[in-house]
Amino acid sequence: MSENATKTAAQILASYDGPHLRIMEVCGTHTHENFRLGIRKLLPEQVDLISGPGCPVCVTPVGFIDEAIWLAEHDVTITTFGDLVRVPGTTKSLAAARAEGARVQVVYTPLDALAYAREHADEQVCFLSVGFETTVPAACLAAEQAHAEGIENFSLLVANKTMPQAYAALKGSADVFLYPGHVHAITGTKLCEDLVEQGVSGVLAGFTAKELLTAMAVALAKAQQGEPFFVNAYPRVVKPEGTPAAVALIERVMEPCDSEWRGLGNIPQSGLALRDTYADLDARKKFGMPKIVGKANPGCRCGDVLRGDITPRDCPLFGKVCTPLSPVGACMVSGEGACSAYYQYGGELR
Ligand code: SF4
Repeated sequence: MSENATKTAAQILASYDGPHLRIMEVCGTHTHENFRLGIRKLLPEQVDLISGPGCPVCVTPVGFIDEAIWLAEHDVTITTFGDLVRVPGTTKSLAAARAEGARVQVVYTPLDALAYAREHADEQVCFLSVGFETTVPAACLAAEQAHAEGIENFSLLVANKTMPQAYAALKGSADVFLYPGHVHAITGTKLCEDLVEQGVSGVLAGFTAKELLTAMAVALAKAQQGEPFFVNAYPRVVKPEGTPAAVALIERVMEPCDSEWRGLGNIPQSGLALRDTYADLDARKKFGMPKIVGKANPGCRCGDVLRGDITPRDCPLFGKVCTPLSPVGACMVSGEGACSAYYQYGGELR
């Protein structure tokens, strides 16, 4: 995008005189980047950015943390992305369990977790598999490799989710969806195109200042025309067909299942579970885990934030009881969480 094009995009934002518009940042990284890059300050008064459910750690229910702690307390080494460690469970976080002696290792990829399992044959090692289509392929790759190599001390606790059913559940909560670029780099654009026929508008956005500015300008210009629309404003990464090899990998290893989302409840067929072929890697089955139902802090409004019903500032605990150093809910912990973005970049900003 040239300097002139950037100026044009900024001019489109400044000159918008259409109706009140609610744009949902489905992806938590968009929430953070729109704050960090100052894009929010460029938006006209009648345009509201609201956060959505695209933070994988945030939408993972409390019960999943409790399940991970149950495993940790049954002599299983937990390997996980760092954000999950500090998310409060019903009574404690994995960080608190670690302080009590549980083995909790932070890894950067599922393959790191598998490598840890290879190097520690005397430990049972479980990887906490959360995230959307973006991160699922790496978990599937680890499962395939573990299976192929016959690694018996490795398993996965799976709470992966997929976006299509979430879009359906969120229909009507925003005028325009800012679609998550990384998810659609895997799945392609067909779903977004199909949603136009159901009256759902959206723009697929990248993550740089230019890409976000362009996406916002496109959203505002198209919204003024009054017809449902979809525009791929991230074509350098998202191709219409997505990444077929990654989709095929997911389909080989996992299958759709019903899934519980923090804030959105149980959404049929919106989750992924290991296929029967990989049942020996399923930590719930392998360790005979009982059914565990978590209970979130009743004062936490993460669910309302994730549905776009309120902003973090509307939560009475925001910035007082709940801060990044002392988080009450997942949205204040995660690097993609809306509450953490509002806290980090200024709750007073629009
Ligand atoms: S500010 Fe804290 S308590 Fe309030 S919704 Fe966000 S995470 Fe939950």
